[in-house]
Amino acid sequence: MSTITNSIFKIKFWGTRGTRQVHSLDHTKFGSNTICVEVQCGERVLVFDAGSGIVNFGVDFDKRPSVQNFDLFLSHAHYDHVEGIPHLSPLYQKQNSATIWSGALKGIVTCHEIFDFLMMQPYFPVKVEKFEADIKYNDIADFESLNLGDGIRIHTTRLKHPGGATGYRVEYAGKSFAFITDCAHSTNAQDDQLVAFLKDVDLFAYDCSYTDEEFEKYSTYGHSTWQEALKLRSAANAGGVYAIHHMPFRNDDELERIHKDMKTENANSGVAYDTKTVKL
Ligand SMILES: [Zn+2]
Ligand SMILES: [Zn+2]
Repeated sequence: MSTITNSIFKIKFWGTRGTRQVHSLDHTKFGSNTICVEVQCGERVLVFDAGSGIVNFGVDFDKRPSVQNFDLFLSHAHYDHVEGIPHLSPLYQKQNSATIWSGALKGIVTCHEIFDFLMMQPYFPVKVEKFEADIKYNDIADFESLNLGDGIRIHTTRLKHPGGATGYRVEYAGKSFAFITDCAHSTNAQDDQLVAFLKDVDLFAYDCSYTDEEFEKYSTYGHSTWQEALKLRSAANAGGVYAIHHMPFRNDDELERIHKDMKTENANSGVAYDTKTVKL
């Protein structure tokens, strides 16, 4: 049994946009970067997905002289979840070490191969061998539980998405956070498996690409809605849910309205934006 001396459990959203980055004057308040969420558990740094938001995580990580190690968990390998990897500064530095975890692609592509493909001529000038950090690659199966050490446990689940995606739940110091992105729902049945996975979680991030009104048009795209996020929260007795994976067409005004509507139903819920921090 490890003794927890630092029970800090902090979540920082570095990238909340889905599908692709977006830069325009009516997309300034909620950020432009694709998916990346950092979870700090005591002294340990865990990162979920490596969309363009991970570049700013890397810049910030470089300013923390006492931290030289992090774990990166990939939900899947669509561009909006891996595009930041070639630009992740801490991986180019010898003093650092990182462990990369990938779930949904086991048996299809290894997480080492994902890195190789992203850093291949003629698409990128340097190969993965240029990374000087000590990097370990771990392919895990969905529905697995991992003991990360230092009192941290990770649980995984399979999400409904073209090609599959992995959902993660982090347990530390009696608190919990789940990262659920790129996940479709059914309009006529509750997803009992996901409800069980999220049971009593303190907070979860959820794929709120669409609204219920838009969903019929996009039901085969493998994404969900903010209204479904709130239903899941209630069914799972979760503390709160934050919307991520905002579509490029979703402007600040629309996201403000969704944020208000989510907050009205549950004060601990809302729309996440790039750099938003939550302490559990
Ligand atoms: Zn995505
Ligand atoms: Zn995807």
